[in-house]
Amino acid sequence: MNDCLFCKIIAGEIPSEKVYEDETVYVFKDIAPTAPTHLLVIPKEHISRLDEINEENSGVISHIYEVISKLAKDMGLTNGFRVVSNCGESAGQSVFHIHFHLLAGRDFGWPAG
Ligand code: 5GP
Ligand code: ZN
Repeated sequence: MNDCLFCKIIAGEIPSEKVYEDETVYVFKDIAPTAPTHLLVIPKEHISRLDEINEENSGVISHIYEVISKLAKDMGLTNGFRVVSNCGESAGQSVFHIHFHLLAGRDFGWPAG
């Protein structure tokens, strides 16, 4: 994807504060955090949004949740955390490379806004 902000971050063309990286997943700090811990967990493969997940690409999504589980343990997020993936403009998606917000360090309201 030529013109994708997060593909450029993965490629190192745009700087980011990397927290974790492996063959298929990249994790970095959100530039405008909304909680004391606010990470973005993304696949290196460009998938635009959650409703593009299918049988062929869902493996990386399950791996993303393994990474989130490991990071939560490593960071000691024993009080709880929230994972959010906004899909589409009316849900609040602003970057169209699928991403999972990992939020922690404060209480979160429900239902979501
Ligand atoms: P969305 O609104 O699509 O659910 O989430 C996109 C997230 O990407 C936002 O929380 C926003 O702060 C973050 N973001 C946008 N541009 C950049 C950037 O250049 N670097 C980093 N680290 N985060 C970004
Ligand atoms: Zn991308």
